[in-house]
Amino acid sequence: MVSEHASPLATLGGVDAGGQNVHVAALSTALAERGHEVTVYTRRDSATLPERVTLRPGVEVMHLDAGPAEPVPKDELLPLMADFGARLAEHWEPGPPDIVHSHFWMSGLAALDAAGRDGIGVPVVHTFHALGTVKKRHQGRDDTSPPERTVLEPMVGRGADRIVATCSDEAFELKAMGVPAGRISVVPCGVDVELFRPDGEVAPRGARRRIMTVGRLVPRKGVGSTISALARLVAEGRDDVELVIVGGSTGPDAVLEDPDVRRLRAHAERLGVLDRVTFHGQLRQAELPAMMRSADVVVCAPWYEPFGIVPLETMASGVPLVAAAVGGLTDSVVDGVTGLHVPPRDDRAIASAVGSILDDPALAAALGAAGRRRTERRYAWSRVAAETERAYRQAAQARPSERARRGSVTL
Ligand code: UDP
Repeated sequence: MVSEHASPLATLGGVDAGGQNVHVAALSTALAERGHEVTVYTRRDSATLPERVTLRPGVEVMHLDAGPAEPVPKDELLPLMADFGARLAEHWEPGPPDIVHSHFWMSGLAALDAAGRDGIGVPVVHTFHALGTVKKRHQGRDDTSPPERTVLEPMVGRGADRIVATCSDEAFELKAMGVPAGRISVVPCGVDVELFRPDGEVAPRGARRRIMTVGRLVPRKGVGSTISALARLVAEGRDDVELVIVGGSTGPDAVLEDPDVRRLRAHAERLGVLDRVTFHGQLRQAELPAMMRSADVVVCAPWYEPFGIVPLETMASGVPLVAAAVGGLTDSVVDGVTGLHVPPRDDRAIASAVGSILDDPALAAALGAAGRRRTERRYAWSRVAAETERAYRQAAQARPSERARRGSVTL
């Protein structure tokens, strides 16, 4: 695995640490459980990190030196990728792995650079996790990706032996980008259905009905719309509601230092609902299930979403879900069955969907139960790993002559 910015060891919920970290850690673990040996290469972002850390039996994390041994925002990492690719090549020269799976476009560049060198020739499978074209479409001038992404990302798409798209919406985008349909496998992200389950400890709560959001607090995650929806519910006469917001770049102690929290608090204050909103800060994965189970409803209302693991975690926990009908959420959430779909950026629709769940215990129970069933059947990591392995086999079977032609990315 190559995951330049998203280490499986990172704390989650901050600006650059989310689903990709979970994906790489859980997929690597599930592949190890299937008997494979997995090494995850990531950039060293702290001088105190050892070169090699065992994540669990069969999964090693290697910290490669590329640029300063300190955190660097992911949008500033591109100039470091030539070094990162060179370090990968050094590791692979003595005995290349059987397959390389790169995550995010910059890892793809580094992996193709190293894999294309003489004597290495290893097949590369790539997962984008997010696409620059989609980001630019939604964020316009606020998109801080380096301008080169527009050109380099499609090169990764065309250069890799196989692309694993995490949802059907992404597969459409990839085809529009010029990736041949025959080289795309759609394999979703998974969820830890043992950790996230309906039964177990429940975090303390009061009498108010609890609405919850979980995840990074960057604007595109749409937490502001859920605050607006809360204000609507209160304006409609519901005095019994609160909103718990989990995630952000700090833990619970320093939550007010987080610029995203300040922005969202100001929004809640303007709408007169600040006293009903709790900013919890980051929670470790192990602490999340009890917190999620304390919610009457979880809202995931991003503007766009490449995949979205939080909706799966919510469904696996048997908690009713309101989800924007975007990206991966159109595959994972079955409207009216495992959750209620709403249009993106539509606080009126969120308020109405949340209201109907809070008012109808039978609906809430049915959504929760169906969500659990769906995640058990389709999204357990063991199943995701088996499907990913199939993509690896297809990549490995691609003709070596084609590989040599395509894999010519030089940084
Ligand atoms: N997460 C967490 N603690 C937090 C906030 C988020 O463990 O305080 C985890 C969350 O449970 C999920 C991941 O971070 O597994 C977020 O993944 P998702 O795909 O929903 O969003 P992304 O951050 O990748 O855009």
